[in-house]
Amino acid sequence: MADLERCLNGIEEGSRESKNFIEQLIDEDLREGVYDHVQTRFPPEPNGYLHIGHAKSILLNSGIAREYGGKFNLRFDDTNPMKEKTEFVDSIRRDVQWLGADFGDRMFFASDYFDVMYEKAMLLIRKGKAFVDELSADEIRAYRGDFTTPGRESPHRNRPIEENLRLFTEMREGKFRDGERTLRAKIDMASPNINMRDPILYRVAHIIHHNTGDKWCIYPMYDFAHPIEDAVEGITHSLCTLEFEDHRPLYDWVVRECEFPHPPRQIEFAKLYLTNVVTGKRYIKKLVEEGTVDGWDDPRLVTIAALRRRGYTPESLQQFVRLSGISKANSSSDYSLLEYCIREDLKLKRPRLMAVLDPVKLVIENYPEGEGELLEIPNNLENAELGSRQVPFSRELYIEREDFMIDPPKKYKRLYPGNEVRLMGAYFVTCTGYETDAEGNVTLVRCTYDPETKSGSGFEGRKVKGTIHWVEARTAGRVEARLYEQLIDEEKGKLNEDGSLNFNPNSLKVVRNCCVEPELLRARAYESFQFVRNGYFCVDCRDSAEGMPVFNRIVSLKSSFKLK
Ligand code: ATP
Ligand code: MG
Repeated sequence: MADLERCLNGIEEGSRESKNFIEQLIDEDLREGVYDHVQTRFPPEPNGYLHIGHAKSILLNSGIAREYGGKFNLRFDDTNPMKEKTEFVDSIRRDVQWLGADFGDRMFFASDYFDVMYEKAMLLIRKGKAFVDELSADEIRAYRGDFTTPGRESPHRNRPIEENLRLFTEMREGKFRDGERTLRAKIDMASPNINMRDPILYRVAHIIHHNTGDKWCIYPMYDFAHPIEDAVEGITHSLCTLEFEDHRPLYDWVVRECEFPHPPRQIEFAKLYLTNVVTGKRYIKKLVEEGTVDGWDDPRLVTIAALRRRGYTPESLQQFVRLSGISKANSSSDYSLLEYCIREDLKLKRPRLMAVLDPVKLVIENYPEGEGELLEIPNNLENAELGSRQVPFSRELYIEREDFMIDPPKKYKRLYPGNEVRLMGAYFVTCTGYETDAEGNVTLVRCTYDPETKSGSGFEGRKVKGTIHWVEARTAGRVEARLYEQLIDEEKGKLNEDGSLNFNPNSLKVVRNCCVEPELLRARAYESFQFVRNGYFCVDCRDSAEGMPVFNRIVSLKSSFKLK
């Protein structure tokens, strides 16, 4: 909560945030003439769907490019042939576009640079900066040492350059099996930074690559490939997350030794973490594969596809990322901040209609049978531009079960025997009685109405304390609504004793037979609405059919995660 309050205070004070540390570093670079323009990139590995953390990186990178009049690239980091899938490439491209990050026609695949990488590896060998090793993976690990022990040099480290060139060519030609040879940089086995202890640059892997097919049986390692990808594309500022800080000396070594004329600069920032949810592609993938959730876009997830399906807008995520801020210190953003952002975004944009999630019938005994009328109700009290609509009204309505009590506590202002309330946008009604079933559940509520009290008629005779919403019974649409709670119950600790995730058993509640204003039956996928008192809802893009929308609750109206 502290997070949310701080942000909100910031907004109220109208304080234009000062430049973040990345912008300050870029300003410095431009001032000192290190670069004369700015170019950034977002480099996802196509091995899963993007999540809210990636949204931060996407919006940061594309935002910086826009701010400095530079370019922004979308680059698929598909150098690892094991995991990539076209499904992921398609979803990532769609998500980045949807978020509003403009990469134009600058969409690239790192695998298109395999030739350049190979040439650069040959250059390093010729310069005596790389060698072919025969140690096994285990041996390399053992030779590497650790934080307290310096590493030992491989016995193959000082091969003649000619021999290295021949062996590396043979690696490429497929003369070795997986793991039999590696190409390693020759840097410093005594370096306090373990990443600098002769890191592996290339490995043998006889795997078909989705883009290059069987052209290659050697593949570059991330720490070698990534700086080359950046340099080839003319990236100036390579923004990445903190875990790469220790890799920066190697990044700099690669771009320097590979003799790129305009080496890019790596700058690290803190990842975005969110309370009560699962971020991290690996973890989300597990939930999807184990069937804990219903696919990558299950609305309880925080993949971008899930957030979109749930009803989040690009604007709300942009605002969320802005308010979360860019820093070098790891911290978790509050889930309530995300909810605040979508409420604020939809508040003035979307119409407010009536839906009754848990209906009970209300009969107005003195309203003429067989008659009815259309009432003009404004669509958004705070935004007249959204106009108004006509809502059917008659003798029989549905109201929310919780809006009637037989024996209410003192402060209860809604309907109970003898009490008068306003039916939103309609008339005052006074409860005259009710019926129950054998178990004592209320099955029907009776009332009378006062025709003088029609909304908008200027009636000022008396006031009522409570207003309740309703839907006319005969014309009501019947729909399914899905109410969500957090997937992870963080109050009891994110993990169970056995290390498994502590799932909230109530994360999805399906409510069938909700009653909605008839107009809502025409709602289209992704359309969102405020349902009076019940929250913001969005038409599910997957399970809705023509005339039969399914509504996802995006967020309740108040800052509370509990279902009623
Ligand atoms: P994950 O940690 O979720 O598995 P990843 O880092 O493996 O993600 P990539 O596809 O390699 O996923 O990430 C693409 C870019 O997104 C990288 O530059 C990475 O630093 C950035 N990124 C990943 N997670 C976050 C996060 N939580 N916050 C901000 N940026 C992130
Ligand atoms: Mg990764």
